[in-house]
Formats: sequence, C-alpha cells, structure tokens
Amino acid sequence: MFKRKVYYEAKSELLEELLENAGSATHQPPPPAQGIPRRWLPSWIGAVLKWSFLPFVLTDLAMQRLARSIIRPPFKREGSCKRRGNCCHYVLIQHSTNLIGRCFKFWYTQVHGFYLRFKEPQLYEGKEMHVMGCRYLQKDGSCGQYHLRPIICRQWPIVEHFGYPKILKGCGYRSNPPFPLDGPEDNLSEGRSKLNILD
Ligand code: SF4
Repeated sequence: MFKRKVYYEAKSELLEELLENAGSATHQPPPPAQGIPRRWLPSWIGAVLKWSFLPFVLTDLAMQRLARSIIRPPFKREGSCKRRGNCCHYVLIQHSTNLIGRCFKFWYTQVHGFYLRFKEPQLYEGKEMHVMGCRYLQKDGSCGQYHLRPIICRQWPIVEHFGYPKILKGCGYRSNPPFPLDGPEDNLSEGRSKLNILD
C-alpha cells in the first residue's frame, strides 16, 4: 500500500512538471515510443456519433453560460486564446475500471481521437487520470476537429463556481481577480491542463 502511494506521488510530480513546462513549450511533445495507436472504430462512425451528440453538447454549454449569468462565479475569465495548442499537449481524463469509466475512455480515445501518453494513470489533484495526447492537434497549434471538438475543449479554460481557475500559463487567458491571489503580476495561474472528471 505504501509502495503504491509512493509510486503515484512520484508520477504526480512528473505530471506537475510536464504541465508546468507545457505552458512555455514551443513545440508539441513527442508521440509515445510505440507511435500513435490506430483507432479501431471507423472514423465515419466517430463522425456520426459526434454530430449526433453535438446538440446535447451545445445545450449543456448554453445552460452553463446561463447559470454563470445568474450566479456569477468569484473569478471572471478574461483575455482570448492565442491558438498555441499548448493546452492540448496533455489532456487529463479520469481513470476508472467500472463500466462508466470504460465508456468514458472509449468515447475520448475511439470517438474523439485522444491517445494515451503513459500506460499507467497518473495522480492529479487526488484522482487517477489518463494522460492523453490528441491526434487532431495540428503543427500550427490549431484544432483539426474544431467544430466537433469535445466538451472539455469547448469549456477550457475553466472558471468554476466552487474552485479556482484552471488556466495554462501563456495561453492568453487570465482570471480576474488574479489567481493565485499573491501570484505574479501578469495574473497567470499555475500550470494546468484540460481535464475531465467523472464524479
Ligand atoms: S480536439 Fe482540438 S482543441 Fe481538443 S485537444 Fe484536440 S486539437 Fe486540442
């Protein structure tokens, strides 16, 4: 049990370092040593699924915007995307071995085209997360599936009602008031990445 805890903590340090460096990276991290895995789900089925779910995704986002306009979060998101693509280098998806967790992983890998950067999940903010790369990230930092991108990419960077802003350094966004409150003058928060949590 102790060894397992130490193992995950060590990996978490690795992840924190990767995310911290992602903010200032000038090029994409290399693909996994064994290459980017092929998807077994035909791409046309993935496209049909994404188009089918798009109305629900857009409705969900509209409801979130409405909720934020009624109950304003303590932090406001300001600025705009610099289109560097750095927030796409390490996308975190919660790991779970139950049915929902498996469906979650299937959805992001087979339908949305993410792939595992590490075989083992890594600990992040107390949760085991898959660290994913995205096959749709273009060399110029643009998104190859912009109109069908998943909800985590549409929400990013997240400014939560109950929590702190999650913004990657140098991405062009900032929080108002700045976070951390005693942070640097440029108002940028600590290295963060897109993440999706099941619970
Ligand atoms: S789907 Fe697009 S926005 Fe989302 S991680 Fe991939 S390249 Fe980035």
